[in-house]
Amino acid sequence: MTTSHTESPELHAPSNFLHEMIAEDVRTKKFGDAAIQTRFPPEPNGYLHIGHAKAIFLDFGLADEFGGKTNLRFDDTNPEREETEYVESIQRDVRWLGFEWEKLCYASDYFPQLYEWALKLIKDGKAYVDDLSAEEIRQYRGTLTEPGKESPYRKRTVEENLDLFQRMKAGEFADGSRVLRAKIDMASPNLNLRDPAMYRIVHATHHRTGDAWCIYPMYDFAHGQSDSIERVTHSMCTLEFADHQPLYRWYIEQLGIFPSQQIEFDRLNLTYTLLSKRRLLQLVQEGHVRGWDDPRMPTLSGIRRRGFTPEAIRAFVTSVGATRTNGIVDIEMLEHFQRDDLNRRAARAMAVLRPLKLVIDNYPEGREELVEVANNPEDAAAGTRQVPFSRELYIEQDDYRETPPPKYYRLSPGKEVRLRNAYFVTAQSLVKDAAGNVVEVHGTYDPASRGGNSPDGRKVKSTIHWVSVAHALPAEVRLYEKLFSKADPGDFPEGGSFLDNLNRESLEIVSDAKLEPSLAGARPGERFQFERVGYFCVDPDSSENRKIFNRTLALKDTWAKIEKKAAS
Ligand code: ATP
Ligand code: MG
Repeated sequence: MTTSHTESPELHAPSNFLHEMIAEDVRTKKFGDAAIQTRFPPEPNGYLHIGHAKAIFLDFGLADEFGGKTNLRFDDTNPEREETEYVESIQRDVRWLGFEWEKLCYASDYFPQLYEWALKLIKDGKAYVDDLSAEEIRQYRGTLTEPGKESPYRKRTVEENLDLFQRMKAGEFADGSRVLRAKIDMASPNLNLRDPAMYRIVHATHHRTGDAWCIYPMYDFAHGQSDSIERVTHSMCTLEFADHQPLYRWYIEQLGIFPSQQIEFDRLNLTYTLLSKRRLLQLVQEGHVRGWDDPRMPTLSGIRRRGFTPEAIRAFVTSVGATRTNGIVDIEMLEHFQRDDLNRRAARAMAVLRPLKLVIDNYPEGREELVEVANNPEDAAAGTRQVPFSRELYIEQDDYRETPPPKYYRLSPGKEVRLRNAYFVTAQSLVKDAAGNVVEVHGTYDPASRGGNSPDGRKVKSTIHWVSVAHALPAEVRLYEKLFSKADPGDFPEGGSFLDNLNRESLEIVSDAKLEPSLAGARPGERFQFERVGYFCVDPDSSENRKIFNRTLALKDTWAKIEKKAAS
């Protein structure tokens, strides 16, 4: 499913089948008088990405709508992959999206309780210690068309199981030598019910519990019970867990604990984007990007650094909604919501990325004046500012052509254009270097056109931006393109890798851009529209004397379209 939208929705949590389901449960008092409780349960094994934003807006947004609460729970049951750095970044990102959790929880806080519950299942004859190797267990499991085979260890006595499980916990056995399994049904059509593993042996230091444990619960044995402990009423997760739901329910039923209920929705997929922490980690570790917060990354910290806003992300995920079938959303749709938001809110500024000097021969030498410019034509309340104008200006190289192609309306010999908010100017002559490149354009202005207004009703076909040479602020500008060159970066030929689909030209550094002087005070994170160029955001790498800007998004480039059309 590819969706494109042109209008912004209202800012409320996505309205969808999840909403209907919860409303029905409230109406029928499925959970008695208990308030709606949800949780957002990331594993702290990487940074959050835009897909997680969808889950966050659903978990927090739906709870909010029904007057309920949401916990942030770290699903930290894999000690080898989890780190405190990730725990911290996840909290930062959830807050950035505008949410505050009711309780901060960790699955690891429940390790003692989960262990007690495992003992109970053993005593009830519902769990056993298996000595088969991982490979044997896989073979015994059977396939979708063939039933599994029972392990020879399945008939162990309760006493023997209790003894072995306690000794697993005491650290007597090597990693992988034994597992605790639930005793369910080796012939079940659902593979997840063919005696799933509950505990495995891992001698590794956990980011919170240190070396206290050397057995760790599997996701399925931890997740539902953690929900139940927190009295989660609606445990929303992505569709790949649908097959796990019977197991989720089985544990809760066997233990007779609070009946949390799992509901699945579709995962967010975006074109030209990979949303998998494992692969994003690989990009970081192998240095294909500068870090988790590289502005080309689909991580929340990456798109934040690039200049994306929580408001636009909210509008986007609201529009995408939630369904019961997976699809792919065009990245352009996310970009559309971001442009829409920045168009309304970002202050305008003039910046020349590839400077060409324009000297106005009939403008008095040494004179300077201030022209008044609206900070945001979309928002009168944003006010105006004064921009210095003088005899020598920078304009974009692209805004001048010695020999203009058809339909080129910008500056060219003898042609008149408007300098934005300033004057009409006509190109007269040019200066070239030894190699024949245009290095300077000379022109004349019409003093009667001050403010950019036509003095006699004559029209110009184009308005270009400019920066006064004497006042220009030099800056670095980082231009980003898509990180992958293929709409489905996960699609690669046998023997290849998703890395083959990396766009090798996703970053271009412009080291000598010229900005209007008002930008000297811009702080990291501040967002602007550079008129006619795009949306930009101050990068934290900036120093007092050198500003660095990230391009969030280009404006829609109508000229590029005309050129493309002409070329085809
Ligand atoms: P990844 O494959 O990137 O590691 P994950 O599903 O393992 O993702 P978790 O940390 O377990 O990541 O995810 C926390 C929550 O976010 C889960 O409820 C999960 O279903 C949800 N989630 C993860 N990715 C997406 C996505 N692309 N779209 C919507 N929800 C997602
Ligand atoms: Mg996961």
